[in-house]
Amino acid sequence: MTVHQPIAAVGAFLDRPLGSLIDGTWLGEAEGGMIDVVDPATGSTLTSVAAGSARAVQQAVDAARASFADGRWCNLPPEERRRILWRFADMLSENLEELAQLDVLDNGMPLAFAQWEINGCIDWLRHFSGETTRLFGRHASAAISGGGHDVHAYSSMQPVGVVALIVPWNAPAGNMMIKLAPALAAGNSCIVKPAEDTPLTALRIGELALEAGIPAGVVNILIGHGHDVGQALADHVDIDKVSFTGSTETGKHIVRASAGNLKRVTLELGGKSPVIVFDDADIEAAISQVAMGIFANSGQICFAGSRLYVQRGVYDRLMAGLVDFATRLKVGSGLDPANLLGPLISGKQRDRVSAYMERGRSQGAEVVTGGNSVGTQGFFVEPTIFANVARDMDIVREEIFGPVLVATPFDDAEDAIRAANDTRYGLGAGIFSRDVNKVHRVARRLNAGNIWVNCYGITHPALPFGGFKESGWGREMGSEVMAAFSETKSVLIKLAE
Ligand code: NAP
Ligand code: MG
Repeated sequence: MTVHQPIAAVGAFLDRPLGSLIDGTWLGEAEGGMIDVVDPATGSTLTSVAAGSARAVQQAVDAARASFADGRWCNLPPEERRRILWRFADMLSENLEELAQLDVLDNGMPLAFAQWEINGCIDWLRHFSGETTRLFGRHASAAISGGGHDVHAYSSMQPVGVVALIVPWNAPAGNMMIKLAPALAAGNSCIVKPAEDTPLTALRIGELALEAGIPAGVVNILIGHGHDVGQALADHVDIDKVSFTGSTETGKHIVRASAGNLKRVTLELGGKSPVIVFDDADIEAAISQVAMGIFANSGQICFAGSRLYVQRGVYDRLMAGLVDFATRLKVGSGLDPANLLGPLISGKQRDRVSAYMERGRSQGAEVVTGGNSVGTQGFFVEPTIFANVARDMDIVREEIFGPVLVATPFDDAEDAIRAANDTRYGLGAGIFSRDVNKVHRVARRLNAGNIWVNCYGITHPALPFGGFKESGWGREMGSEVMAAFSETKSVLIKLAE
């Protein structure tokens, strides 16, 4: 099969001077230094982007605040905002190949995965464009009396205001759009801070937002380091909300920083999601689902199914199938369609994952497949499965964020539920079984925000997504996210006698 060459638009974009996009204007100054954008498949530098610091943060906040105060977006007729968001989706669609290739080069993901990611962004924009005309509250007059008076009372929703959207590198466009689409639909003015490892699609999408007709100042893309501009956003007293996706550690940091003005905070954090396979499951069908539940995007997915619990009677069969599947997975550049696994995001991440694999071995776990990095160019590691693991091993307790699965046999459902819930996280969980009664009973008792049965990782913008416990606060998508990007107001009017 032929390796794709990046299309001309990608080269043209990379040749441009890039920096923050604030108030509809590119900032050339690099108060925070230049950040090299590295292709993780080769380790080579694609371009450098100008990073902002305190001054750029203030410019972004001022631009967003001014755009919110004069109502250029939030006070547009909702149908107009709907039309513009739909056009924004059209613009992503027209530039899908460029955006997908930018994410392949920047993040390393396989092209098919990137295309799926950008299609997801389009889908979310179209879905949430429809929410612009559904932002209503409740009419309460018939249900209450205002201290014996005749009252007219209702609740309503209004945008929170200036919101900072801080996102990680593992799905750069998707992580951004899952927040941006509902934030804009609710009428907020936004400052997006992409991860320093993957700024490209955020900048291109920021530009497309302007071309689609979203007024300048409403979508600002702020480039900079997390400990610098990220922290400044979390601290800033003129920001009304931070919606954050990233590590649990940084999430806790953001919560502490939010105390200054008690800004609203929602968090999508890490996971160590369990997958339970019962002996009555369709094992052949489960193999690819379980495998891609952890190996997709090289395990760099927050809800990756990284802990596998298999009923003892089918353990050997499922494990043999998984090993066979893993050894046939082609690892290499995301631009070659034959490759289903790309590199990890960086040398740092590859070393972190390798260190976990080493700790797994030294703590007594058995590598049944993989366990090594691949080649000398780029940041590749093999899809890896550990057996003979114990509940207190680091590879069982901690999020690795790499293509590493840990597997344990179990005897009965009680065993499996206990083991699955034995974690500080609670993002996803998988159940494989043909017994509908068992499935419902187990799903009820798993402490996770998203449960997948006989599949893994399917999401829909109408369904809330998020985590229990240390996997986060609040939910993305669904009506829940619209509430999270809105303030609720109650209005009570005493009618004259
Ligand atoms: P991270 O270090 O927490 O970074 C996430 C974002 O926060 C980046 O934009 C980062 O900027 C910024 N940041 C870093 N320090 C900050 C600070 N002190 N204040 C404000 N912002 C700061 O996360 P990561 O390690 O890159 O990403 C992987 C993690 O994200 C995993 O734990 C994964 O589970 C989680 N994740 C969760 C979901 C979900 O939906 N639940 C989805 C994807 C990923 P820089 O890049 O410039 O440092
Ligand atoms: Mg990169």
